[in-house]
Amino acid sequence: MLGLMQDQPLLISSLIEFAARHHHDAEIVSRRVEGDVHRYTYRDAAARARRVANALDRLGLAFSDRVATLAWNGYRHFELYFGVAGSGRVVHTINPRLAPEQIVWIANHAEDRVLCFDMTFLPIVKAIWTHCTTVKHWVALCDAAALPADTGIDGLVAYEAWIAGESDDYRWPSFDEKSAAALCYTSGTTGNPKGALYSHRSTILHAYGGALPDALGISARDSILPVVPMFHVNAWGIPYSAAMTGAKLVFPGPHLDGKSVYDLIEAERVTMAAGVPTVWLGLLNHMQQHELRFSSLQRTVIGGSACPPAMIRTFKDRYGVTVLHAWGMTEMSPLGTVCHLKNKHLDLSPEAQMAILVKQGRAVYGVEMKIVDPAGRELPWDGRQSGDLLVKGPWIISGYFKGEGGDPLRHDPDGDWFPTGDVATIDPDGFLQITDRSKDVIKSGGEWISSIDVENIAMAHPAVAMAACIAVPHPKWDERPLLVVVKKPGAEVTREELLAFYEGKVAKWQIPDDVQFVDAIPLGATGKMQKMKLREMFKDYRLPTA
Ligand code: ADP
Repeated sequence: MLGLMQDQPLLISSLIEFAARHHHDAEIVSRRVEGDVHRYTYRDAAARARRVANALDRLGLAFSDRVATLAWNGYRHFELYFGVAGSGRVVHTINPRLAPEQIVWIANHAEDRVLCFDMTFLPIVKAIWTHCTTVKHWVALCDAAALPADTGIDGLVAYEAWIAGESDDYRWPSFDEKSAAALCYTSGTTGNPKGALYSHRSTILHAYGGALPDALGISARDSILPVVPMFHVNAWGIPYSAAMTGAKLVFPGPHLDGKSVYDLIEAERVTMAAGVPTVWLGLLNHMQQHELRFSSLQRTVIGGSACPPAMIRTFKDRYGVTVLHAWGMTEMSPLGTVCHLKNKHLDLSPEAQMAILVKQGRAVYGVEMKIVDPAGRELPWDGRQSGDLLVKGPWIISGYFKGEGGDPLRHDPDGDWFPTGDVATIDPDGFLQITDRSKDVIKSGGEWISSIDVENIAMAHPAVAMAACIAVPHPKWDERPLLVVVKKPGAEVTREELLAFYEGKVAKWQIPDDVQFVDAIPLGATGKMQKMKLREMFKDYRLPTA
């Protein structure tokens, strides 16, 4: 017997219409490439998303055709999310920090028909447009007046002129909720980038999951600053969860330095911010230098790479802001786990609570996980044994776009699991702790050393701005840890002082063998430390102990 509930597809268009109707005056504030601050409401955003849909119909775009974006976080990008997907096309967010050849490769692989870009990226577009063989329409996200006449790009229009003539009346089509809605390529640190293709259904379920109190906890009372880019896994789904709940959205545009982020948080009474750890380093430095305080910020979601415990402590102790440490990946839409205490933890000492809060947290409903040993046997959730982390759920990929890379899943008797490539422990309460990327683990004499643990200790030293730990070859132990450090401006610390800092904090054999100071650690297109590049930089380096 089937239930007697209405069979209504979960479609992204319903989010923006819900927001327009129930939260029509909730604001969306954007710092623009133009330099000013733009503000309007969900009602305005919905009207303009409908114009986008009409404009795409006029171009004759077919169902599932791809519309690419090369854009910062801002209201026009937001409108495209809904206008493109809502009308049945696929919004393909491209990371503008990739090399131009990679952007061309991705656009051609995705067979993008339209590409919309912020004026910041006009030089990139000028360099690549003739190589993007499937793109027929180029849209600059600006007023007609801001568009130079002599770009030389065929078929280039200004976004505002493009949608100006369209009606804001549009009947959103209804279709299968499993239809593709958004496409995002993984960073591609190894091999070609691979596309994660999200569906309407997966996006809506993920938006529900993300809004839950023990996930990002998003409500109509929030003012949210997603510093995490909309070109990177849909800004962790925040635009969708915000529309679902009517939260105010604050978009930083291209201004991601500490001062700009701080000023925006204060001006717009931001209650929640989200981003990778490197972004918050800039913010915290700025605040420390100018002895600033937050007046509205309550919590910040930090993920994308391990958040150093020292950062969690600084936010809490100095600024009264709760860090929600979160873990996920492009292939998971991206939310997997978020760290919130349980009721039974509330009476623990601050130190004992901190020991939990530094973990990556508990699974959001919708994500199943398990850890396995090299033979594929499931490991217990004892918080000690670490193994390869596998996940499954309705917002986790079943394969990459166009079957790139073959079947990524592991087909176990208990289901089809996606191997994350991460190594983790899970404790009896279900708290996940990532010990490493499997390719970053340091294998020393048959024991594994977590590069994240080594980095976290260094990051707690007052003179250290950034630290990365990589494996270097060792004749006796196979591999030993090398710590690469960027010092804080004006701060001094020696190799010996840093190594001494480890004593008593980890077992002796887990202490790095050497420290190398550098001016900068290479960061990837999503703001993460690029250990591959770092290993390349130190490929001729030999340990003093070797
Ligand atoms: P995203 O950066 O959005 O999480 P990516 O697909 O670019 O997505 O990267 C996913 C990988 O980043 C994970 O597999 C994991 O190795 C790492 N990662 C993400 N969040 C964390 C975290 N909180 N702690 C440690 N590693 C993390």
